[in-house]
Amino acid sequence: MSDDSKALNFIEHIVEEDLANNFPKEQLRFRFPPEPNGYLHIGHASSISLNFGLGLRYNAPVNLRFDDTNPAKEEQEFVDAIKKDVKWLGYTWDTERYASDYFQQLYDWAIYLIKNEKAYVDNQSSEEMAAQKGTPTQPGTNSPNRDRSVKENLALFNQMKNGEFEEGTHVLRAKIDMTSSNMLMRDPIMYRVLHKAHHRTNTDWCIYPMYDWTHGESDYIEQVSHSFCTLEFAMHRELYDWFLDQVYDAKKVRPKQREFARRNLSHTVVSKRKLAQLVENGVVDSWDDPRMPTISGLRRRGYTPESIRNFTETIGIAKRDNLIDVSLLEFQVRNHLNKVAPRVMAVLDPLKVVITNYPEGEEEWLDAENNPEDESAGSRKVPFSREFYIEKEDFREEANKKFFRLKLGKEVRLKNAYIIKAESCTKDTDGNIIEVQCTYDPKSKSGSGTEESLRKVKGTLHWVSIKHAVEAEVRLYDRLFTDESPDTHKDKDFLEFINPDSLQVIKGFLEPHLKDAKIGDRVQFQRLGYFCVDTDSSSEKLVFNKTVGLRDSWAKIAEK
Ligand code: ATP
Ligand code: MG
Repeated sequence: MSDDSKALNFIEHIVEEDLANNFPKEQLRFRFPPEPNGYLHIGHASSISLNFGLGLRYNAPVNLRFDDTNPAKEEQEFVDAIKKDVKWLGYTWDTERYASDYFQQLYDWAIYLIKNEKAYVDNQSSEEMAAQKGTPTQPGTNSPNRDRSVKENLALFNQMKNGEFEEGTHVLRAKIDMTSSNMLMRDPIMYRVLHKAHHRTNTDWCIYPMYDWTHGESDYIEQVSHSFCTLEFAMHRELYDWFLDQVYDAKKVRPKQREFARRNLSHTVVSKRKLAQLVENGVVDSWDDPRMPTISGLRRRGYTPESIRNFTETIGIAKRDNLIDVSLLEFQVRNHLNKVAPRVMAVLDPLKVVITNYPEGEEEWLDAENNPEDESAGSRKVPFSREFYIEKEDFREEANKKFFRLKLGKEVRLKNAYIIKAESCTKDTDGNIIEVQCTYDPKSKSGSGTEESLRKVKGTLHWVSIKHAVEAEVRLYDRLFTDESPDTHKDKDFLEFINPDSLQVIKGFLEPHLKDAKIGDRVQFQRLGYFCVDTDSSSEKLVFNKTVGLRDSWAKIAEK
C-alpha cells in the first residue's frame, strides 16, 4: 500500500488490492473508451480523469480506444473532436485504438465459438426472439434454431458476412442459458447485419459486433488490466466474463471490469444522444455552443482545463448515482480565473458621465494593475478623459445609506483614477436618466501618493472613456434548463424544460487595448465577471462570452 492510502477512492483500492495480491505493477494498463457518436461532455471528464489519473499514479499506459461498432451513428468528426478534448484536458494516451481494428479478430473468434457450439445463427424475427426472452422472474425458452449444426451455422454466418441477408433477418447469438436469472445471459446477440459504410472500415463489413462482444475482447487484445465503466454495465459483467472465458489464455492478463457511478450535473443533460437532439433541434447552435455541458462548449465558454480537472477531482468517484450541482463547476472556474485572468474595465449597460471641471480635449493614460492576485501580471495604461461610461445601475439620483455607488451630492472613486462627485443629471422626455454631470478632485489620482489620493470614499466604480472605448458583442448565458434534473421526469420530455432566455446578446464598451484580444483570451471585466473571446470574434467584430459571474462583491475587493 502506498503512503497516501487514506486518500484513495474505491477504484484505486481495487487496484491496490490487486497489487497486494501479487498482480505485477508493470502489467497495469487502462483505457478510456468513448463511442465516437458525439462530443465529450463533463460526465466523460470524470471517466477521463479516473483512467488517466490511474495511469499517472501507477506510471501505467492508458489507451484511447474508440468503441466504434455502430456505423449508423459514428463519424470521423467525433473522433477528431474527442482527441482534441482529451489533449486539451491535459492527458496523453499511450496508443490510439479502435474497436474496428479488431473486426477480423472478433470475427475469427466468433467462428471459433461456433465451432465450439457456443454460438449460433438465429433467423427469427426480433419479435419472436423477444417473446422467447422471458422476464426477470420467468425463464426464457430456447430458440428453435439453437441446435443448428456447426456446419449450418458456419455457412449461415458466412452468408451474413458476405452480405447475402437483409438487415434484421439474421443474427449470431451466444449459446449461454435461456433460464439464467441474468436476462443478459439469455443467448445475447453477438453480431447483426448492417449494410452501412463505417467511417474507418468503409464497406468491408456488413456484419457488426455488439458492444458486449466487442468491449471485453478489445480490453483483452490490448491487455487492459482494469476496465472501468459506469454502473449500468454492472449486470453486463457476467457476460463480459463469459465472453473472456471463451478465448482466454492463462498466460495473458485477464481484464477485470469494475463499475463506478455516472456523474450527472444539475440543470443540464449529460448524454451524447440527448445533446445531439439539442443540436439537431436548433436549441443550441452547435456541439460547442457555450451553453452546452460538452468539453468543447465549456472551453469556448472560457473554462480552463485546470478548472475542469479540479472539478472532477473534488467530486471524486462514487458508487451510487447522484446529481452534482453545477455551482461546484462554476466555483472551480471562478477560483482558477481569479488567479490567472487579467483585470480589465468594460461597461455593459452604459450611462454617460461628464466631468464639467476636466479640460475639454485633454486625456491621461493612467496606471492600472493587471491582477492583484498575481504581481507578475504587471500593469497597463488606461485612458481617462472628460466623458466616460459607467453602468446605469451605478447611479441614482437619491438612495439610502447602503447605496455606496454614485448619487447626487456624493462622492465615489473611479477605479485607477479620481474621486468624482455627482452634481446634476439630465433626463429624456420619458424621465430616463441619460447623462450625469460630475466634478472631480484633480489631486485625488490613484497611486499619486497625495493626501487626497489616500482619502477613503465608500464606493469604487469601473468606467470606460467614451472617446477610447472599443465596442464588442457580449453574450450573456443563463442555464440551458429551468429544471434541476430535466431528464428524470417520467411524464415530460427533457426538451420541455429548455430555458427560453439562456442567451442574451448585448453591446459592451471596453478598454481600448482589448481590440487586440485573441480568440480564447480570458479576462475579468471588473465587478462583472469573467469573460473570454469567442471563436466568432474577428478584428472587425469582437465577441465576448460571459464565463461566470464574480463571487465576491466589488466592495470587498476595493477595500483591500
Ligand atoms: P453517452 O450516453 O453520453 O453517450 P456513454 O456512456 O454511452 O455516454 P461512451 O462514449 O460510451 O458514452 O463513454 C465513454 C466512457 O465514459 C465510458 O466508460 C462511460 O462509462 C464513461 N461515461 C460516460 N458518461 C459518463 C458520466 N456521465 N459520468 C461518468 N462517466 C461517464
Ligand atoms: Mg454510448
